[in-house]
Amino acid sequence: MHQKTQEHVEKYHDFFGFQFLIYIKLVINNSIHATYSKKAQYFCSMIEDKNPQRTPLSELGEFKLIEHLTDHFKVTQKSTVKGIGDDAAVLSFGKKQVVVSTDLLVEGVHFDLSYAPLKHLGYKAIVVNLSDIYAMNAVATQVTVSIAVSNRFPLEALEELYAGITAASKFYNVDVVGGDTTSSTSGLIISVTAIGEVEKGKEVLRSGAKPNDLLVITGDIGGAFMGLQVLEREKEVFKVNPNNQPDLSMYTYIIERQLKPEARKDIVELLKELDVKPTSMIDVSDGISSEIIHLCKQSKVGVDLYEEKIPLDPQVISTCEEFNLDSTTIALNGGEDYELLMTISQEDFPKIKGNPNLTVIGYMTEEDRGMHLVTRADEKIQIIAKGWNALTDQA
Ligand code: ADP
Ligand code: MG
Repeated sequence: MHQKTQEHVEKYHDFFGFQFLIYIKLVINNSIHATYSKKAQYFCSMIEDKNPQRTPLSELGEFKLIEHLTDHFKVTQKSTVKGIGDDAAVLSFGKKQVVVSTDLLVEGVHFDLSYAPLKHLGYKAIVVNLSDIYAMNAVATQVTVSIAVSNRFPLEALEELYAGITAASKFYNVDVVGGDTTSSTSGLIISVTAIGEVEKGKEVLRSGAKPNDLLVITGDIGGAFMGLQVLEREKEVFKVNPNNQPDLSMYTYIIERQLKPEARKDIVELLKELDVKPTSMIDVSDGISSEIIHLCKQSKVGVDLYEEKIPLDPQVISTCEEFNLDSTTIALNGGEDYELLMTISQEDFPKIKGNPNLTVIGYMTEEDRGMHLVTRADEKIQIIAKGWNALTDQA
């Protein structure tokens, strides 16, 4: 395999104009194998066509877009146990099962460098990926890290980013085994792929929940979103008065939840110790209403979620009051908490009862009963996903 393949674009002018002409030479081992020269009809026809069909992505939203683009992909390899549609893919090689997940963080969409320190950002980029591995009940083992950077970033900035990546890889005991580096015309883009392993049969998919299973959440939720609200507010204050040093001591927990979240590696270990295998599991990246809908749809069940059971930190409650926001709405739709949401069989209840890390927030029902929030006033409200959605937000 000593062949050197090189694609060479010789002329490249006026991308969006009509004279767009490209010559591509395919050079293998220094000899020209093919020359391709063609008016780029595709791009031009898109511009010339007076009535092209152009469906705005906001019409679909993130989940429908993924479905639309991917539902024709059929699994053909014997080693693919679970393909698209879960927190991570599950691959089987002999006795070992490997899980793989990938995520992209884009400046201006997922983070704002005016308040996200680069070291924290590096840490968070790893954590959000590992979270998907733990959501499969797997142990994370390796990551690859790819970055696209503009010349706005000096070396020292990237060293900071990598200090965070190093800290996370040490804390979660994963090896950084590769990646890619390229330039970007605008902001910073970070893509991390996480790899893990899980024993055959121990993987937990989104699709295994049964009616009467208990719905269980780890930790507490809504904090990361409220942390973001505080940081956004301080950014606005800073713009008006750059000398103002904000006192954020009242918000330390929620700001940490936003800037330096942790993935629940400990929960995978705890479940093993307790000898509990959840029937389904997902990590909370978009807000629990959207995650609950994923579990219900993929497991073909309904749910009754109890408002009074949703675990909230006192700082979330007080900050919601300050911002005049309803804490239940924030808990349901906030996102970025990176807790684990799972269903467990009622038989396992005695094993988790009283555990401070695990809160029962509802139970699964037959599919035709629907998905509902049971409010403190004992009213039933249908659960709809208002979760964070990059595509509709940016419409
Ligand atoms: P998560 O929030 O857990 O990262 P996503 O909602 O991003 O999950 O993705 C759901 C599923 O769709 C996953 O299996 C993911 O690998 C897959 N997926 C997302 N985007 C694409 C894409 N552009 N092409 C192929 N598969 C995708
Ligand atoms: Mg996930």
